[in-house]
Amino acid sequence: MLISCDPNDVEGGKKLIEDLTVNANHVQQQVLKEILTRNAETEYLRAFLNGCSDKDLFKKSVPIVNYEDIKPYIEMIANGAPSKIISAEPISELLTSSGTSGGQPKMMPSTMEDLDRKTFLYNLLMPVMNRYVDGLDQGKGMYLLFIKPEIRTPSGLMARPVLTSYYKSSNFRNRPFNKHNVYTSPDKTILCSDSKQSMYCQLLCGLIQRDEVLRVGAVFASAFLRAIKFLEDYWEELCSNIRTGHISDWITDPNCRIAVSEILTQPNWKLANAIEYECKGRSWEQIIKRLWPRTKYVEVIVTGTMAQYIPMLDFYSGGLPLVSTMYASSECYFGINLKPLSKPSEVCYTLLPNMAYFEFLPVEKNPGEATEHIVCNGNSDHNCMKQQRQQQDEAIDLTDVKIGRYYELMVTTFTGLYRYRVGDILMVTGFHNNAPQFKFVHRRNVVLSVDTDKTNEEDLLQAVMRAKRLLDSLDCLLTEYTSYADTSSIPGHYVLFWEMKMRENGEVTKIDSIVMEDCCAAVEESLDSIYRRCRSRDKSIGPLEIRVVKQGTFDTLMDFCVSQGSSMNQYKTPRCIKSKGALEILEMRVVGRFFSKKAPMWKPYRIEAH
Ligand code: AMP
Repeated sequence: MLISCDPNDVEGGKKLIEDLTVNANHVQQQVLKEILTRNAETEYLRAFLNGCSDKDLFKKSVPIVNYEDIKPYIEMIANGAPSKIISAEPISELLTSSGTSGGQPKMMPSTMEDLDRKTFLYNLLMPVMNRYVDGLDQGKGMYLLFIKPEIRTPSGLMARPVLTSYYKSSNFRNRPFNKHNVYTSPDKTILCSDSKQSMYCQLLCGLIQRDEVLRVGAVFASAFLRAIKFLEDYWEELCSNIRTGHISDWITDPNCRIAVSEILTQPNWKLANAIEYECKGRSWEQIIKRLWPRTKYVEVIVTGTMAQYIPMLDFYSGGLPLVSTMYASSECYFGINLKPLSKPSEVCYTLLPNMAYFEFLPVEKNPGEATEHIVCNGNSDHNCMKQQRQQQDEAIDLTDVKIGRYYELMVTTFTGLYRYRVGDILMVTGFHNNAPQFKFVHRRNVVLSVDTDKTNEEDLLQAVMRAKRLLDSLDCLLTEYTSYADTSSIPGHYVLFWEMKMRENGEVTKIDSIVMEDCCAAVEESLDSIYRRCRSRDKSIGPLEIRVVKQGTFDTLMDFCVSQGSSMNQYKTPRCIKSKGALEILEMRVVGRFFSKKAPMWKPYRIEAH
């Protein structure tokens, strides 16, 4: 089920989308058949299907799984077991996902063929965009893209993030238009492993070609805003480079220097002055429009947790359309936005039925509550088995979902995942032909996220539990806590609200700032490796802050939540604050603010050999 798409062909792209969505159900059945036929002899499927590739048997016998269930297989492959335990096609690498398991990134299997499937989805984006925005062939795109560290598993497989894998592939290098210099960032600057040098060089190239730029972007809103902050810090140096025609000496990456020197070919004081004029003004409002005046839109994902960045993007872009083009993950690329100019709050994604076999678990009532993990430790847990079987019966096909309902997405991929719960909660907003369209609602169980980090309630609890031990030296107890992602400045940072009391009862009158700063650092040390990487290496998250609140604050918070409709009986302190009113209650009662003074340890993780 590998289809190719010519990104130059607007009509052809449209026809492909029509064909896939009109025949969504047929395509899905074919995809499942192909996956099951190909992989019938894998150890994993054999255990459930005994070599059959029948859909009914698949639905009845293959269990719905979470990462913990498939982790042993992934680890075996990382340690040298043959791919065919899960996939007939060789697993060519493992993709490290931003979800974590036991503090380490999850790893998803991938194959060479899957790169072509991703390319297919990328190639559909341009024909869709061309239907809504004219003249995109008259200029360039300034897309700020970055790679992340990669490691080798004990068996020699590469383990790295999905985008790093894609940017390093020949599919990316040979992407359409690339050889016509349609993008301002040379590949060599994108592929530089020093993120600071990469950012500097990409911005320099983007500024030099400012008059040609028609669209700007990054993958996620957080990365784009980080680039603007970087520009605020470095514009003088960038202007100086443009003025003199020489790139700064601290850019030592030879490939970056070569790539930039092909664009920065001569001194250009006129351009440097024009950029300086825009940057040295007091306000950076509309800076995107001012620096890249022909820009028609900003292409960044602003759905899900990235929605928190919309006001700031509006400020810098002067209200340019914010375009979320696609919905994808390390497990699988899912779908695209067929109306790219729709308002962020109305964005919905159409899952492309040829990408994987999709199933949906209905989520009842409050989607946040009804999506508890089902983690089975062994087969003996009767309730767990029952719940599993019930879910098995409830899982429905792509074309059977109902408008207005919430579902958790589940995939069976071409790369060795079978009935895998992605953990995303989606709501059906409508249909394009016979293919449903979904709004991304939230990720199951994530409470805090600033960049690509995703901290869940359990991780946060563990981190707070460890840090609060430091309060013993003050004879102080932590009585309540909650959190919130403060993204009002760049980079954003985690804020914890702590209510404390003296062991002997009574209000804490004096708060020792050293101990509190140590608590901040201790929380950071306990958070997972992706948080620590963002904080220590990428600097995309600022120092964690603890705001101590007056005694009684959490009672007032409870009263507020109950007044807003929470049930008194079932009230649980929200571990993350989203509502403005609740935040105000906490803010008004803050008696001390403390920040982490040291960045947590981060080293590329290792996969232990077994
Ligand atoms: P990763 O596997 O680290 O690439 O993370 C994939 C996850 O990022 C998805 O399962 C979603 O939770 C989230 N994500 C990806 N694309 C979007 C999008 N367009 N809107 C909202 N969330 C997204």
